[in-house]
Amino acid sequence: MSTPQQIASDAATRTLTLQWPDGREQQIAHAELRRACACAECRRIRLDDSTVHASPDVTLTDVQPMGYGVQLVFSDDHARGIYPWRYLEELAEAASRSAEQKL
Ligand SMILES: [Zn+2]
Repeated sequence: MSTPQQIASDAATRTLTLQWPDGREQQIAHAELRRACACAECRRIRLDDSTVHASPDVTLTDVQPMGYGVQLVFSDDHARGIYPWRYLEELAEAASRSAEQKL
């Protein structure tokens, strides 16, 4: 499992950027991260086939490295999700695939 060399959150574009050791750069929208929150509560909502409510205006206000991943704090005061690196990588891959399909 690899760990990003750099992780940067941009409030203006509401995007989280991950820089991987192999040179790849991935971007994930803050709202997307909020919808995919990794906490037990949000996971349960998605298991029930529901969507986690996320305002399109939601922003990431803090990023706390946790070793195996990051704890993400959102502007709606939701801060329970710890996102393992592998999970973030998969989220970003899924996001870029759906962006390609829209072209
Ligand atoms: Zn959550």
